[in-house]
Order: sequence, then structure tokens, then C-alpha cells
Amino acid sequence: MDNDCLFCRIVAGEIPATVVHETDTTLAFRDIDPKAPVHVLVIPKAHHQDVTAVANADPKAAADVLAAAAAVAEAEGLLADGFRLIFNSGANGGQEVFHVHAHVLGGRPLGPMVS
Ligand code: C5P
Repeated sequence: MDNDCLFCRIVAGEIPATVVHETDTTLAFRDIDPKAPVHVLVIPKAHHQDVTAVANADPKAAADVLAAAAAVAEAEGLLADGFRLIFNSGANGGQEVFHVHAHVLGGRPLGPMVS
């Protein structure tokens, strides 16, 4: 755990979050500032800075995040109409929290990729 990391502190239960799915290695919780009717963040419990870091250091953790994202999409009723899965990475990617997280977005037409 990185004590300075917001999402590590959510995993530790030090900061509240609305958890919708949990496995031994992943946690999924509702985004505090939702951009769609369904907006859930899926994270590995272990700290990795971004998607490149987790894919290189622990491919199983990366796969676990994808599986959890798929489970969240199904549980949130997004499979019929579709959804978007995003990993923002680094400054140009718009990443603000440097603990890798997948955004699961759905519940309305999202249109083409935004800038
Ligand atoms: O991909 P990026 O790093 O920009 O996304 C961070 C996300 O974390 C934002 O969508 C923000 O609303 C969310 N967040 C949250 N709970 C917090 C702090 C940030 O859901 N306590």
C-alpha cells in the first residue's frame, strides 16, 4: 500500500466508497463524479501507477481487472446496449489518480470518443 495514494486508502477502508464488486485482487466502486448513468472504477488492490505498469509487473492483476470490469458491466445491465472501458494513462491521457483504474461507463449512448 502507498499511504499517499487515494485509491490505496479506499482499498484499506480509510476513505469511503460505494463498492459494487470485490474479489481477492480487485475492487470496483462508483465514481464520485459520474460522467454517465453508470460510472464505475475498477482497480487492482495492489498499487500500480498505470495500465502499462500493471501489465508489465503483474499481467494476472491486469487480467483480473478486465474480468472484474466485465462482471461489473454485466451486473449493471450494460451488456445489451454496450458500454465503454477506458484506462486514462499519463498526462496526455488525462490521468488524475495514479493508481491504475478502468472506467466502466454506460447507461446512455456515449457517442464517438471524446477529446
Ligand atoms: O482517469 P482519471 O485519473 O482522470 O480518473 C480519476 C477518477 O477518480 C475521476 O473520474 C474522479 O471522479 C474519481 N474519483 C473518485 N473518488 C475519489 C476521487 C476521485 O471516484 N475519492
